Formats: sequence, C-alpha cells, structure tokens
Amino acid sequence: MDKTLERIVAFVQERDWEQFQTPKDMAISLSLEASEVLEHFQWMTLEESRVYVESAKGKAGLSAELADVLYWVLLMSHYFKVDLQEALESKMLHNEQKYPISKVIGRHNNKYARE
Ligand SMILES: [Mg+2]
Repeated sequence: MDKTLERIVAFVQERDWEQFQTPKDMAISLSLEASEVLEHFQWMTLEESRVYVESAKGKAGLSAELADVLYWVLLMSHYFKVDLQEALESKMLHNEQKYPISKVIGRHNNKYARE
C-alpha cells in the first residue's frame, strides 16, 4: 500500500493541489465518493443489486468508485498521520471483543451491543 500512497501523494503534489487538501474538504470528498457507491444501487431491488455486482457494467462502475473511496482514505491517512495498518488492527481487536462469535453468530442486528 505504501507505493500506492506514494503515487497518490505525488499525483496531488505534482498538480499543486496540496493547498486544497484541508481536513474538511477531504472528509467531504470521502463522503461524496462513498455516496457514489450507493448511487449504483439506487432504486434497485435486493435481487437486482446482487445481479448488478456480478455484471461487467457493475464491476467496472463499482471498481472505479471503490478506488475513489480508497484514494481519499489513503490521502487522509497521509495528511492526518494515521497508520492505517495499525488503526485497522486496533479496530478489529475492538470489534472482536465487542462482537464475540458466541453471542452474535448469524445475527445481523446490533441488539447485543446495546445490552
Ligand atoms: Mg467517484
């Protein structure tokens, strides 16, 4: 991932865009790109959405949007000085403790976490 991040940072620096990379605007950009993932599924039934992700059009469109989301996550981690590997490891440990398999297996709601 380091090479990818280096490429993204170089892309920004070469265009003199660092001046625009404020925390506010990067967070907005991340949210907008995540919304563009949702846009692909708007007005579809559950079954249509499952078919869409398997289609060539769906794969191409969703790949591009997920790449856009990852771009902003990586760029934000760079400017916020967040070690994403460490952050994800910490978050997974937290999630594993919050949702022990024996208590949540096969359950999709969050009732257990609120008890
Ligand atoms: Mg996009």
